[in-house]
Amino acid sequence: MKQYIIPIFIPYSGCPHRCIFCNQKKITGENAYLNTETIKKIIDNWLSLSAQLSAIGNRQIAFYGGSFTALPLERQELLLSSVLPYLNDGVIDSIRLSTRPDSITIENLAILKKYRVKTVELGVQSMDDSVLSLSERGHSADDIRSSCKLLKSHGFEVGIQIMPGLPGDTFESSLYTAYEVMKLKPDFVRIYPAVVIKNTGLADLYLSGSFKPLSLGDAVRLAKYLLIRFEVNNIPVIRIGLQPASSLMEKDVILDGPFHPAFRQLVESEIAYDMMKHIIKGQGASLPLQVVSRGGKGQGTTFFISHRELSNFIGQKRSNIKKIESEFDFKVDIKSDSNLKSGEAIFDNSLKKIYIKRKEVLKEFLSLRATNNAITGN
Ligand code: SF4
Repeated sequence: MKQYIIPIFIPYSGCPHRCIFCNQKKITGENAYLNTETIKKIIDNWLSLSAQLSAIGNRQIAFYGGSFTALPLERQELLLSSVLPYLNDGVIDSIRLSTRPDSITIENLAILKKYRVKTVELGVQSMDDSVLSLSERGHSADDIRSSCKLLKSHGFEVGIQIMPGLPGDTFESSLYTAYEVMKLKPDFVRIYPAVVIKNTGLADLYLSGSFKPLSLGDAVRLAKYLLIRFEVNNIPVIRIGLQPASSLMEKDVILDGPFHPAFRQLVESEIAYDMMKHIIKGQGASLPLQVVSRGGKGQGTTFFISHRELSNFIGQKRSNIKKIESEFDFKVDIKSDSNLKSGEAIFDNSLKKIYIKRKEVLKEFLSLRATNNAITGN
C-alpha cells in the first residue's frame, strides 16, 4: 500500500550538540518552535493538499530533523499528544520519528508505544567508530547495535540512515557499514552521501583544505554498490541523496560534494547500464534466465522493460544507449512493455529472447565482482 508521509520538522530538537555535517535549518528549511496549535496547522494543511491530490494509502506523521527521543519526556509527550486526535479519528494511521541511536531507552519506548509510534529512523551514518568520532557524533557503533536491538525487540519498525563519504570514511569502511547494518536487519535504509553545507563543521574542514568530499561519480558508484548489497539482502533502500529542499538549493548553501536532485536516478541508470552490458556480453550465462525463443536474423538488440524504468535504462541524454552502442558497435533499442513489472526485462537480439530478473543479475554481480569487475567503475 502506498505510504503518505506528513513531515513535521523539529530541527535540532533534543540534539546534545551539532554533528559535523549537519545543518538542519537548510536541509529541512524549517526554523519554527512547534506547539499543539502549529502542529495542527501543519497537519491540516497537508491533509487538505492530500485531498486535492486524492492521496490514498497509509498516512503517517513524521517528526524529522532532530533527536526526538533525546528531548525531555514532557516535550515528547506534548508533541505526540498533539497528533493523537488525528490517530483517534482514523485520519492518520501511525507516527514515525527520527532520532539518535544513543537516546533509545526503555522509558522512552514506553512513551512511543503509548502514542502508537510505529517507525523509528536512526541516524546511523557509519558503523566505523573512527568515522563516527571524526564526525563528532558522540556515540559508538555499539550504541547503534544495542538501540536497534531494543527497538526491534519492542516491535518497532526500524529505518537506518547512512552517510558515506564523511571524514575518515573509505570505500571499504562504507562497505563495512553496509554489512554491519545488514546484520541489524532494518526494515529499510536511506543513503545520504555526505555533502558540504555552509555553517557546519564539515564546511570549516573543507574550507581549510582538510576535507575533500566524494565526487558525484564516485558517490554514485559507491551508492550503487551499497544499494545492490541491500537489495540482494531484501532490505529496501527507500531514498538515496538529499531532498532538494528550496532552502538547500539557495545560492552558496551547498559548498561542494555529490549533490544531485535526481541522485537515485543516476544510481539506477548505472545499474541498468551494468545489467544491459552484462547480458549482452553473455556473462549472464550462469543466471537462471528463461530463454523465451531462439531463431531469426540476429539484427539489432532490444531491451523491453516496464515503463517505470524506461528513463533509467535509456540514461540521461541517452547516455546508456550511446555507451552501449559505442562499446559493442551495434544498435540498441529500449522499449517499454506493459506486461513487465519493475525489476523484469526481456532481452531480444532476434537470435535469442530471454527473460531477465534484476535481482538475479544483481546477485551474480556480487558473486562475480571479486574476479572480473562485473560492475563498471571498479
Ligand atoms: S545529525 Fe541528527 S543528531 Fe546530529 S545535529 Fe543533526 S539532527 Fe542532531
